Amino acid sequence: MDTPPLRRPRRSTLGVDVGGVPVGAGAPIVVQSMTNTDTADVASTVRQVRELAEAGSELVRITVNTDEAAAAVAPIRDQLRAQGCTVPLIGDFHYNGHRLLKAHPACAEALAKYRINPGNVGRGSKRDPQFAELIEFACRYGKPVRIGVNWGSLDQELLARLMDANSERPEPHSAQQVLREALVRSCLDSAARAMELGLGADRIILSAKVSAVQDLIAVYGELAARTRHALHLGLTEAGMGSKGIVASSAALAVLLQAGIGDTIRISLTPEPNGDRRREIIVAQELLQTLGLRSFAPLVTACPGCGRTTSTYFQTLAQSIQEHLRRRMPEWRRTHVGVENLAVAVMGCVVNGPGESKQAHIGISLPGTGERAVAPVYEDGARTVTLKGEHIAEEFQQLVEQYVARSFPPRAGTNGDPS
Ligand code: SF4
Repeated sequence: MDTPPLRRPRRSTLGVDVGGVPVGAGAPIVVQSMTNTDTADVASTVRQVRELAEAGSELVRITVNTDEAAAAVAPIRDQLRAQGCTVPLIGDFHYNGHRLLKAHPACAEALAKYRINPGNVGRGSKRDPQFAELIEFACRYGKPVRIGVNWGSLDQELLARLMDANSERPEPHSAQQVLREALVRSCLDSAARAMELGLGADRIILSAKVSAVQDLIAVYGELAARTRHALHLGLTEAGMGSKGIVASSAALAVLLQAGIGDTIRISLTPEPNGDRRREIIVAQELLQTLGLRSFAPLVTACPGCGRTTSTYFQTLAQSIQEHLRRRMPEWRRTHVGVENLAVAVMGCVVNGPGESKQAHIGISLPGTGERAVAPVYEDGARTVTLKGEHIAEEFQQLVEQYVARSFPPRAGTNGDPS
């Protein structure tokens, strides 16, 4: 298999409706996430799904691995709906999905999509009939399916067949090339089989996740060249902290820029007791910095330098960033286009006025040892100079007034957040 990084890249043309959320065929790229609660624990799972949805996750996947978990799915969906949370739930099935869907029809009905891993639906002679059972449930309940191949659970029989065929070639490909081809082939063959079984092409999303950046780029480039199905992107097992963020962003940015990918998940390992919502913020910021979607006001802030040796600048930049994120859910409800707001928070006069003039509203702070005087710019013009102890609070007030004045009220709200 020839594996150039990207070959004839294009976006999918087959759109899929996932519980009312359009995926693919030019729809906005969808952000999704996954819970890490025990699904059988209804209260904890409802709480986390709500948190993820409120943070901006447009689809939420939950593990369905036991009878207890399957029995909890419909109550979870019902409690979420009772609380006004309508985010579609995706069931993640491995090994026993065919049995769980059969034993728990309420679960099969409550889920908006089934995620199936062709590498572990069953071994040997059980694989094909169990895969067929899963697809038949999707057809019966009218649900889309994600055929999600994963490097760590690749169909070993398919891989062995491709390795054998490769060894017969006059000039065999490398083992890495064969592995990549096996991932792509597993996706495409499974999608073809699902359609033979009666599942519509507009009910199929594909993914082929790996944990190395270059492999992900090569595999998705190939996949995009060989299918019109909607694609779910994610670097699996990306890792913790900055490593996970950098690796995911590097891989996904290359693919998204090439028009590949219809829904994304950033698979970050949270710190112990860490915030699961971080992966959603990273996904949103990735899409927004690429100019593909807008979710929240962007803050342009300088890194600080020897001119900002006190913590004053960092504290102020952080408080303004947090204020914008806290206010955004309400602003989004009351003001049209507010997610496009650009705010600048700059450390001193060197670049501060220039950057502030480029933003909708910006502030240029005094550097360390300078007088506490901070000029504010709105729409490119200097409007006011803040002084003294309460610069942060006063700037937040100015941002509030700017939003109220510059972004039209949404119909029915009159811009009134109450
Ligand atoms: S704007 Fe001023 S404080 Fe910020 S990095 Fe540049 S010189 Fe340093």
